[in-house]
Formats: sequence, structure tokens, C-alpha cells
Amino acid sequence: MSDTIRCEYCRRPIKLRPVKKALRGKEHIFCSEFCFRLHFYNVPTISYDDLQKMYAFYCVSVPAQDYHQTLSGLMGEED
Ligand SMILES: [Zn+2]
Repeated sequence: MSDTIRCEYCRRPIKLRPVKKALRGKEHIFCSEFCFRLHFYNVPTISYDDLQKMYAFYCVSVPAQDYHQTLSGLMGEED
């Protein structure tokens, strides 16, 4: 099916709720807030295996609130 929604960052088909973000007046769709952040900060696309590890880490040990701070720290951004 050509109308399968795919994450703009990791290209995985989105089965759960897509994360929609407007950037520069254009709508972008991601499978998660996590991919949006990676896309937003222009992180090079990583492998599916790496993503699995990162999602496992994200789901198990990083609460949503802390996650933003953690990622900001990783990217050297403060906001
Ligand atoms: Zn994704």
C-alpha cells in the first residue's frame, strides 16, 4: 500500500499513533517524539538494531520529562 505512513526519520511503518510536527510550515510525521528529536537535531540515521537498543533504553529507564533533558545534554543544547 502506497499510503502506509512511515516515520520520516527511521522509515519504519507507523502502526501506533503518529507524532505530527509542523516545521517551517510543513507537516512532518514521526513514529515517536524520539525520532522527531533526532530528525530535528539532524542526527544521521541510525540502524534498526541501534534503534531497538535505544528504544529499549528509552522505555525502561528514561521518563518522558527527563528524556528531553538527557537528549538535550547529548546534543549539547540547552533550552
Ligand atoms: Zn521513527
